[in-house]
Amino acid sequence: MSMTMEELIAQGEQDLLHTYNRYPIVLDHGEGVYLYDLNGKKYLDFMAGIAVFAFGYGNREYNDALKLQIDKILHTSNYFYNEPAIRAAHLLKQASGMDRVFFTNSGAESNEGALKAAEKYASLKDGTNGHEIIAMENSFHGRTYGALSVTGNAHYRESFGTLPCDVKFAKFNDLDSVASLVTDRTAAVILEPVQGEGGLNPATREFLEGVRKLCDEKGLLLIFDEVQCGMGRTGSMFAWQKFGVRPDIMTCAKALGCGVPVGAFLMTEEVAAHSLSAGDHGTTYGGNPFACAAVCKVLEMYEKTHLVEHVQQITPYFTDALEKMKARHPQILERRGAGLMQGLVFDRPVAPIIKEAMDNGLILINAGANIIRFVPPLVIDEGNIDEMVGILDPAISKVCG
Ligand SMILES: *Cc1c(COP(=O)(O)O)cnc(C)c1O
Repeated sequence: MSMTMEELIAQGEQDLLHTYNRYPIVLDHGEGVYLYDLNGKKYLDFMAGIAVFAFGYGNREYNDALKLQIDKILHTSNYFYNEPAIRAAHLLKQASGMDRVFFTNSGAESNEGALKAAEKYASLKDGTNGHEIIAMENSFHGRTYGALSVTGNAHYRESFGTLPCDVKFAKFNDLDSVASLVTDRTAAVILEPVQGEGGLNPATREFLEGVRKLCDEKGLLLIFDEVQCGMGRTGSMFAWQKFGVRPDIMTCAKALGCGVPVGAFLMTEEVAAHSLSAGDHGTTYGGNPFACAAVCKVLEMYEKTHLVEHVQQITPYFTDALEKMKARHPQILERRGAGLMQGLVFDRPVAPIIKEAMDNGLILINAGANIIRFVPPLVIDEGNIDEMVGILDPAISKVCG
């Protein structure tokens, strides 16, 4: 006999390493912007697997492309060329305006590659090793040691000893704070054009332009982490494109595979020519035909469905709905974010509100203790937004009184 949801959860608690306080739900399948748990309960999904499922669930065209690739070949290793990787790299270059692509398996790994490329670039330039990186307070770049080094959240770092990169943390959106940390040892500045985990903070135009100019003057590389804010989420394919501030290195993951684990770091020709060369970096799975067939199909579908234009069109309706909720509830201090990457900042922890919403069939995620984060599938329509408000608004009233 198959196990009930409760039995599965109990079993999972015995067997999985407890690094997450999971919601007591076993998700089973999805259709469009809805998820279903093992008991058949339906949820409207405004989390999208953490900004992953741009097209929602069960997309026929996407699923068929994956099935076709499964029957052809899943994996080859990087000792050989494979067609999906070559096509995916070309499409990603076109979408980003960057010059060279390295495929990885996650966001953290993409940032690891970016940091290695930056160090190698600096060391080829001055003949020394061990340069400094400037990162931002409240940033999030992933949980591996290198990515953790540049993550501006002391709580995530403090239990793990000496981290591999020499990092200084600047204040986000404060150019003077970045400039004051530059030394003759600085290799690069890394930042998210819209901070996700750290609280849905969009960079200002002045800040991005200022950091770009500073990097040019001082000979530093500028790394943009577009893992969460990229892939159309904020209304341009990559968030930096809206400002015309091109980085030297860019990282990407989450919606890049729309459910298949894949990431990438991309660079300009200048960085490619003077950083990582044969033997300097590698991965077994990265860029494998299955993951890259997903990337190809995802990028084709973005183009064909004009998904980024849809994000631009639906955003005002979404922000308006959030502003109206803010007006109705004094417990909401602020709405902030960009495009379909929004946050409502509360005067209290949001966990009980998220729980109440979930009980009533709406999946949300937090960003820090006091912020509800909205990163829905990019295909949501006005009706989905109304439905979200119809569940969340009473949940706020019930929990906050
Ligand atoms: C999620 C995230 C990462 C880490 O990605 P993983 O795939 O979980 O390793 C890195 N940077 C940003 C901005 C993210 O949101």
